[in-house]
Amino acid sequence: MSDNQTATAAASLLPTYARFPITLVKGEGSRVWDDAGNRYLDFVSGIAVTNLGHAPARIKEALVKQLDQLWHVSNLFQIPNQAEAAKLLTDNSCGDAVFFCNSGAEANEAAIKLARRYQQLVQKNGRYEIITFEQSFHGRTLATLTATGQAKVKEGFAPLPEGFTTIRLNDMAALEAAVSGKTAAVMLELVQAEGGIHPVDREYIKQVAELCKREGILLIVDEIQTGMGRTGKLFAYEHFGIEPDIFTLAKGLGSGFPVGAMVAKEKLREGFTAGSHGSTFGGTPIATAVVKATVETIVGESLPARAAEQGEYLMAQLREKLAGSSFAQEVRGLGLLVGIECAGPVGDIISAAQKKGLLVLSAGPNVLRLLPNLLVTKEEIDEAVAILAELLA
Ligand SMILES: *Cc1c(COP(=O)(O)O)cnc(C)c1O
Repeated sequence: MSDNQTATAAASLLPTYARFPITLVKGEGSRVWDDAGNRYLDFVSGIAVTNLGHAPARIKEALVKQLDQLWHVSNLFQIPNQAEAAKLLTDNSCGDAVFFCNSGAEANEAAIKLARRYQQLVQKNGRYEIITFEQSFHGRTLATLTATGQAKVKEGFAPLPEGFTTIRLNDMAALEAAVSGKTAAVMLELVQAEGGIHPVDREYIKQVAELCKREGILLIVDEIQTGMGRTGKLFAYEHFGIEPDIFTLAKGLGSGFPVGAMVAKEKLREGFTAGSHGSTFGGTPIATAVVKATVETIVGESLPARAAEQGEYLMAQLREKLAGSSFAQEVRGLGLLVGIECAGPVGDIISAAQKKGLLVLSAGPNVLRLLPNLLVTKEEIDEAVAILAELLA
């Protein structure tokens, strides 16, 4: 299609995205190409989705093999790939049982439902309230946007579901004041990503985990952006010396194939029974073939450790090369989830970087967010840092 035809076709879409004027048509490793043949270094990775780079051969092989065999069967039948993908996730985490779905919002929706059902039907205590945090992001369904601590995500969608309270992060007194006999769960990201790349305080999260344990409150960790090696551990909770009762995955779980998962501890197994939750497409043979190959690759090739090392290098280079910039204020992050806090809006920097062949995104108005894939090389990091240093000088 010509640019004009594409523009006309795009008029048939609802305007839910402020899209960049770039049409990407091909991807390989850390590189993507647009329809005019321009090449870019991709530090967006589909927002932490293509953690293994674009078109990773091993995942493609698993996908194509499954495409030749069987695409879809109902969850009313046995699905070996699904069981094996679940075992890989539980063998490599603190979790014991997995529910597969198709997106992050759905994984969080499942976590909220499981937490309530466990409290109400297993513990029989009638608890329903979910405590969440300012600046968090948990998704776009009615329940998950209610859980999200950002007003702009909720605007115009009233009435919102009941049973959610949002408080300040890293404030133990606020949490103690919010907890009551109604509290079913506390739900949070360990590095707030959309909210501006803010890792949670170590001491605080330990205290949160202790309080939850003491009070019979479930701890739900949203690992949708932080999971699958992104932060330098397979799951971000490993950095903090805590174990969530439930954690949620999506983004990097399928290397670009849409899939989500909720992983829960053994005691929560009783919270769901046949018929209490479900999804037509959750964990199809294709999706879970991709999950298996993705987890095997990330674990087998020690990619979390690589992400930790490359992330440290990226942050050190940024701190060094941006030291003289009055616009760049702070570099922070965990592994390859990296933010540059700036003195003002970063939209123009993102556009200028695109013209120089580098794709980056924002996390809130004033933070540049860098999300290279886990296989990014030091040379690629140097290339990105040089472009950013020039633009932020
Ligand atoms: C992206 C994201 C979600 C929502 O995932 P979708 O697949 O877009 O529904 C939820 N939580 C966090 C932390 C995310 O980064």
